[in-house]
Amino acid sequence: MSKKSETIILEPEERIRKEGFCSRPMTCPYCHGRGYFPPTKHQPWETMCPDCEGTGEVIALVTIDWKPNK
Ligand SMILES: [Zn+2]
Repeated sequence: MSKKSETIILEPEERIRKEGFCSRPMTCPYCHGRGYFPPTKHQPWETMCPDCEGTGEVIALVTIDWKPNK
């Protein structure tokens, strides 16, 4: 399976602080982008995917917390 990569270049600004990045949306691996699971014998209705909450996509929130080097 091929993989794409995203790179975050770490570089402190004038004042260090907490930074946050949001990845590009990716296909939910649990429901494979469907957002819902089809009905089964035990559960005869569609079930919303708990990981992507029915959107079919997930994003990664990356937090960078700059600290003194001690
Ligand atoms: Zn999902």
